[in-house]
Amino acid sequence: MALVVTKFGGTSVASPERIKNVAKRLVAKRQAGDDVVAVVSAMGKTTDELVSLARAMNTAPSKREMDMLLSTGEQTSMALLAMAIQALGYKAISFTGWQAGIVTDNEYSLAKIENIDAHRIREAIADGYIVVVAGFQGLSLGGDITTLGRGGSDTTAVALAYGIDADVCEIYSDVDGVYSADPRVAPRARKLDFISYDDMLEMSSAGSGVLQARAVEFARKYGVVIHSRSAFSDAPGTLIKEAVPDMEQAVVSGIAHDTSEIRFTLRGLPDNPGVAAKLFATLAAYKVSVDMIIQNSVADDKANISFTFPGNQKAAVEEAVSRVKRDMPFDRVDIDEDIAKVSLVGTGMKSSPGIAARAFKSLADNEISLKMISTSPIRISVVVEASQVTAAVRCLHTEFGLDSDTVFEETQLSPEEIAAKMNKGR
Ligand code: ASP
Ligand code: MG
Repeated sequence: MALVVTKFGGTSVASPERIKNVAKRLVAKRQAGDDVVAVVSAMGKTTDELVSLARAMNTAPSKREMDMLLSTGEQTSMALLAMAIQALGYKAISFTGWQAGIVTDNEYSLAKIENIDAHRIREAIADGYIVVVAGFQGLSLGGDITTLGRGGSDTTAVALAYGIDADVCEIYSDVDGVYSADPRVAPRARKLDFISYDDMLEMSSAGSGVLQARAVEFARKYGVVIHSRSAFSDAPGTLIKEAVPDMEQAVVSGIAHDTSEIRFTLRGLPDNPGVAAKLFATLAAYKVSVDMIIQNSVADDKANISFTFPGNQKAAVEEAVSRVKRDMPFDRVDIDEDIAKVSLVGTGMKSSPGIAARAFKSLADNEISLKMISTSPIRISVVVEASQVTAAVRCLHTEFGLDSDTVFEETQLSPEEIAAKMNKGR
């Protein structure tokens, strides 16, 4: 008998039928003797729809009201799931973030969890309930509803697993685990049996959408083991945990890519000390998450600075840049939206020299030109033309021996049809 936190993402609860399937799965776990807490996301694309509704009211809605609105998506799915479980004859109770004891800071739309007081969940479990918790939300120290950033239900699940000292945190989604690359881009990608926190964190930050980076960070900090697996089959997925010596570490664990960033280049800035400090302090004040940075000195005591950031922060960057221009004139700004970042991730790179050279050679052999490069001890990222992203991911995947013998086929079947075909659907 185990204490299990399970998380079901938007696709897994997209329709009444799918919510009923989740209910059956949870009941099966209960019948097997486990104590179960389920964290749910909003149904399907609900959160995106709520975002567009908000924009129809106000092009720059206040963050407080945005969190009030977005938190309703998860509140709908938690209540429906509890009802579906009750319909199967089992005790179930749903809790919002605050009822579950999730206390956050006051940063609307990107709140950090400060504290978890899980006594209500513990009591409900002791009373034999299957507990359902709304993902993605908490209550701020100031007493307002907050949300934890897009994809934040993963973080709720990991935090609760820590808060109630669960044996494992199972994250169910429409993919059956963590792959060595996005199989839709690299059809020879392979499913990993396990991946270390460090590698997973780099993969998530580099664009792998399987888990929210913050959730992985939280899991690493508190040693929560995550099992990323399919909501539509019983097959084991990928374990994300601390690397142990006998965990065979490939040099490169995976190739991640990200097409959501854009690049600004400020040309003809004064080439003085303090210029970069001023620019990036201003961007920070506008809460821009800058990713890569390159500064070049050019003729006549002038410098160019390029930086990349998530495309959805463009408006904030434009404001910050015009503010910088007022006290620190520069010639012009070039905007490049058609870029993609491709990253090679692997703890094993630390102890193997020559990986960067191999990666660059492979990209060059495939006539892929590099616009920017950045590295960490366990990651090498390059920015390429967006149109070359597929070629870049595939050639690196092959170069570092990650190709599997089987080819992933994109299927038009619904998850239910796939499950039925595999005869594993519950
Ligand atoms: N519903 C939220 C989102 O779409 C949170 C989540 O799914 O984890 O971002
Ligand atoms: Mg999600």
